[in-house]
Amino acid sequence: MRAHREVALWRDATDAQWADWRWQVANRVQTVGQLRHVMPLSASEATAIGQCLTRFRMAVTPYFASLIDPHDPDCPIRKQAVPSPAELQRGPADLDDPLGEKPQSPFPNLTHRYPDRALMLITDMCATYCRHCTRRRLVGATDRAMSKGHIDRCVNYIRANREVRDVLVSGGDPLLCSDQGLEHVLSSLRAVPHVEIIRIGTRAPVVLPQRITPELTRMIARYHPVWINVQFNHPRELTADAVAALGRLADAGVPLGNQTVLLRGVNDCPHVMRELVHGLLKARVRPYYLYQCDLAVGIDHFRTPISRGLEIIEALRGHTSGLAVPTFVVDAPGGGGKIPVMPQYFLGYAGGRAMLRNHDGSLCYYPEPAAKETPGVCPLCHGTHREFMPQPAYGLQPGASSGVAPGVALGHGRLVR
Ligand SMILES: *Cc1c(COP(=O)(O)O)cnc(C)c1O
Ligand code: SF4
Repeated sequence: MRAHREVALWRDATDAQWADWRWQVANRVQTVGQLRHVMPLSASEATAIGQCLTRFRMAVTPYFASLIDPHDPDCPIRKQAVPSPAELQRGPADLDDPLGEKPQSPFPNLTHRYPDRALMLITDMCATYCRHCTRRRLVGATDRAMSKGHIDRCVNYIRANREVRDVLVSGGDPLLCSDQGLEHVLSSLRAVPHVEIIRIGTRAPVVLPQRITPELTRMIARYHPVWINVQFNHPRELTADAVAALGRLADAGVPLGNQTVLLRGVNDCPHVMRELVHGLLKARVRPYYLYQCDLAVGIDHFRTPISRGLEIIEALRGHTSGLAVPTFVVDAPGGGGKIPVMPQYFLGYAGGRAMLRNHDGSLCYYPEPAAKETPGVCPLCHGTHREFMPQPAYGLQPGASSGVAPGVALGHGRLVR
């Protein structure tokens, strides 16, 4: 990390300005000319980046830009923040709506995919636009919070749908809203009796730790239980400023989770991932998900085979704290939702015993209990649990090669809208 005075653009910034999140947002690096102050660019690089900017916007907070190593073309911060000519390539599998959110949205900015959870997008603004963003078709279009009317419409939908007990507040980055704007969202949701938990998804602690002010954390704490998920992708992002911001949130009683995106050339290595998850635990953040990179347009160069994610989970499970091991998920193209993918530890049955293998490859046997399971009614809940059983036909129809065909029943017998 460079001191900000080393970069000509920010030579005159005072420490108070640097520590002010609004100054950071107002002074984001958005043009090739500004970028030249942060790192050297060859003429061809500058041209290619300029071309990218006609399709996808760039904005990098001075704080995050100061983490770029100007002399390392493979810098993991640079790869996440600075456009690459590879973005102009459309991969054969790229999708405009990679997660199939549109059909599951009763109206824009609200997605209701799972019966008991709803996702609302309250702004399209982010502090830094990630090159690998899965919502790149939406983010940064206006760089503004949604109108109050729009937010109230989302809350009204949630109020009318009593099965929703968990609301995810996302964007864009919801912490780019003002304290007042965010408080309006949190207080409106808290006023809905069936909303049990509120979750905020934000990258602010990574790209704009100055945003985590004592006032903000005090405000959030008034609406508990509020959980926050962040997105740290590389150990270099866990700077002293970032760790302090996470500490302020944890001290305010906010349970913290992390959702890493598996990115080729950034973190697709068991050693890098191990350092990241250990750093997160030290900062009181529980690694929650490791995401397979989605099929958004122009990010094909970030994708790894699924086997790379499995290799990473294999390298963590049993080899380090269980708390450090995230769940590896593929967010299925076409709206199938998050599908966990795990190394195979259960190998089958042999002579009434379950055959297992552990993390170092030793075979283990677990004798099943003598009492036979009788199918039928559960003595605890008096139900059959059938509502949780996947329906075998689902997704296996001929022709449903990419994603879920509309109208195919999901596991709960619910239909994809
Ligand atoms: C990820 C996601 C959720 C939450 O999923 P969890 O597995 O509960 O974290 C809810 N709705 C949508 C649309 C999502 O993409
Ligand atoms: S913070 Fe999230 S929504 Fe914003 S650009 Fe990054 S990945 Fe996309």
